[in-house]
Amino acid sequence: MKTFFKYLLTIVLSALATFIFINQYAPLLISVPDKDMELVDFDFNQTINQKKIVSVPSKAKNIIFLIGDGMGSNHIAAYRVIKGGPNFVTAFDRFSTSGLVKTHAVDSLVTDSAASATAFSSGVKTKNRYIGKAPDGSSVRNITELLFDRGYISSLIATSEITHATPASFAAHNISRYNTDEIASDIFNSNIHIVLGGGKGFFMPETLGGLRKDDTNFVQRMIDEYIFLNSADDLENIPDSLDSKVFGLFAQEELGLVDSDPSLLEMLDYAYQLSDQTVQNQNCKGFFIMAEGSQIDWRSHDNDFIGMIAQMDEFNATVNAALDYAQSREDTLVVVTADHETGGLLIEQDNQRYRASKNIKATWNTAVGRGSHTGAMVPIFAYGPGAENFSGILDNTDVFYAMSEAIGISELELTVCK
Ligand SMILES: [Zn+2]
Repeated sequence: MKTFFKYLLTIVLSALATFIFINQYAPLLISVPDKDMELVDFDFNQTINQKKIVSVPSKAKNIIFLIGDGMGSNHIAAYRVIKGGPNFVTAFDRFSTSGLVKTHAVDSLVTDSAASATAFSSGVKTKNRYIGKAPDGSSVRNITELLFDRGYISSLIATSEITHATPASFAAHNISRYNTDEIASDIFNSNIHIVLGGGKGFFMPETLGGLRKDDTNFVQRMIDEYIFLNSADDLENIPDSLDSKVFGLFAQEELGLVDSDPSLLEMLDYAYQLSDQTVQNQNCKGFFIMAEGSQIDWRSHDNDFIGMIAQMDEFNATVNAALDYAQSREDTLVVVTADHETGGLLIEQDNQRYRASKNIKATWNTAVGRGSHTGAMVPIFAYGPGAENFSGILDNTDVFYAMSEAIGISELELTVCK
């Protein structure tokens, strides 16, 4: 009997210890509203709290829109410390205008890249997986289509496959980001003048070593009908002017698996030089470039901190170059943001509290090996004419309206440059 009570006491004490321990030190696993909070009965259909866009007196001629896929503010904070400590100056520090972007989709508090990029490209808040489609499945006009009708040159650049959700949302229309055959077809037939990235496989049939289920060989058509770039070296020969569309597809799928692939910066450099020369030589109105550092997101999904920092390095260099370019001419708006945060990256004290330390303790807070997007607001930075509309808190759809106002899209006359 005595032994029984001893056991009982041990069980009770360990249960109590576990209870105290979990409540003190375990991560908070509160799922609102299960504990401590009342259910907020919000409605996803409520009107979006759209930011008031102010009229921009002197308009931008060009826009360079840079998206760090999955780049939350702690990605920047971690990158800063790794590169040179808390006072290291990143490209993001150079912007005088900054804000925060709410990223939710129309029916989900956590967005995917498709819904978020559609918000950026069209101002329409939609469902996850939707590419250039409204929630009801109808196609929405995106900024590159609006600009094509107004004499603009547009470029899409990504370090992932160009058919991936973010770039696709600026050219294609599909209710699933996974319909890559149809998305590749839309990109080929779109009015985008310069397409640079990976994903050649999605433009070639499986029978010829590609990834398409049908027999369409878009790569052959690119070679026959347009300018086709196959390697980083091809980016060095920039034509004086754009006489035909340019497709630069440098890898079967994503870029960066071999050292000879072009960097995001090399692709952006090609795009703005060729676009600018074309605008001058063919009397176009201006240019729009969307360039994505796609793999910041992928490394964060993998909880690969070192890989993420390498991707941030490439993105940071690209942002620096875009800003240098814009500062040299004063007619170009540069906007830098992310579509969502990935990985729940945290920066914590690496040591005992109150002890000085130079070490960074960065932790991913989404499932190990299966990291996912979070609902965190993401930073946005802007420089150039119209930058003022990118300060404060924006909805992701506001980014479209702020870019449209920067170039005065509603006042531009209808004309086609090329
Ligand atoms: Zn994304």
